[in-house]
Amino acid sequence: MPQSQPRFVILDRDGVVNLDSDHFIKTPDEWVPIAGSLEAIAALNQAGYRVVIASNQSGIGRGLFEMSALNAMHEKLYKGLANLGGRVEAVFFCPHTAADNCDCRKPKSGLFEQIGERFGLELRGVPVVGDSLRDLEAGVAVGCIPHLVLTGKGVKTRDKGTLPAGTRIHDDLAAFARWLIAGDGAHKALSSPAPSAP
Ligand SMILES: [Mg+2]
Ligand SMILES: [Zn+2]
Repeated sequence: MPQSQPRFVILDRDGVVNLDSDHFIKTPDEWVPIAGSLEAIAALNQAGYRVVIASNQSGIGRGLFEMSALNAMHEKLYKGLANLGGRVEAVFFCPHTAADNCDCRKPKSGLFEQIGERFGLELRGVPVVGDSLRDLEAGVAVGCIPHLVLTGKGVKTRDKGTLPAGTRIHDDLAAFARWLIAGDGAHKALSSPAPSAP
């Protein structure tokens, strides 16, 4: 990846940033961040990463909640992050159901392609963080590097044992962020010359 390209991380939402539910997250009250996840996003921002979310939200297509509810959830996300000095660039979501056969519902890669277009971003090598196989598959299809977290459906996903080659596993988003930031630090320490004495 060229040095000039801004660094991005693409996250799934439910089960990665906020607690998941088998009954869908339908209201801002049901949208509850996973402990340490907003701090992790803020830490990534501080380390120079721009964070984007790519999320299947078939609850809209199923008529379980309205766009206004989704917007209110994301207001809660943005405010929580702002309190910590963090931000996400955008939340890209697929509102469709499987029956719609759209191009954006993960494991299809449409959301990722939208992100690439919006930010003029070369997706190859960008870390994708998810708790479900389809998150990782959607990213891998466009060259992203897969990272599984064990929050949400992550343990179930790990135990199925069908992860894309090269998937790295982290306890949660905070552990992923620490790993990514520490790795960068190590890389910089190795590649920059030692400071010389005056
Ligand atoms: Mg998820
Ligand atoms: Zn879709």
